Amino acid sequence: MSEHEARIRLNIAAIQERIAAAAARAGRDPAAVTLVAVTKTHPADMVRAAAAAGVRDVGENRVQEASEKHDECANEPLRWHLIGHLQRNKARRAAEIFDLIHSVDSLRLAESLDRYVAEGARDPSKGRLPILLQVNVAGETQKEGFDLPGGLANQEQLPGFIEAVAQIVALEHIEVRGLMTIAPYVEEPEQVRPVFRALRGLRDELAIRFPAAPWHELSMGMTGDFEIAVEEGATLVRVGRAIFGERV
Ligand SMILES: *Cc1c(COP(=O)(O)O)cnc(C)c1O
Repeated sequence: MSEHEARIRLNIAAIQERIAAAAARAGRDPAAVTLVAVTKTHPADMVRAAAAAGVRDVGENRVQEASEKHDECANEPLRWHLIGHLQRNKARRAAEIFDLIHSVDSLRLAESLDRYVAEGARDPSKGRLPILLQVNVAGETQKEGFDLPGGLANQEQLPGFIEAVAQIVALEHIEVRGLMTIAPYVEEPEQVRPVFRALRGLRDELAIRFPAAPWHELSMGMTGDFEIAVEEGATLVRVGRAIFGERV
């Protein structure tokens, strides 16, 4: 076993224990939480070491970087998650290599993905392309995601968002599976609990309005705050540094 693999194994075991404890505190089944190992900036060798350590889900934030690693790791049994902002000119390649796109942040992007899948960018045997809608629930100005300035407290912003969601869920070749958010950076993780709770509340509301889509996924929580996210209902946690160490 490589040194990398041994370290990754230990780190993952520790994180899985923390996820299980957080799930237990909330009365949730820990098996309902998927750990997405965020491999951005790390080379393909590290992705292979992660796969050898039992990782099955990897998260990348840039299409170009992910594209190369995806091809270099073609023999690994991995699901690829796009967690970073997606430009429309990279949407075709994204539709081709990713198993779940967490970062859909506009109707136009959703329409592009839908069109590329319709044109065959994705292996047709895999069916529709699963996506999540990224929402800036905290209303931070520089954050990506569907913008809800002032957060959900600002009810005036909601109708435009709801209208966009109505059009996205009607697209034939993509499937909305839920929501994703990036919480603001804070010193004390407990402070982001309301953000995660708001995302879940929004998801519950959308699930009632648009019952045809499966809204079961909540992608929230990173190295600094994944336990709080799990307590608040995360089904996908995106963890990089706690597995691979600081990025350089
Ligand atoms: C980098 C990144 C992560 C992982 O962050 P860590 O602090 O390394 O756990 C999670 N989500 C997104 C969107 C990221 O860009």
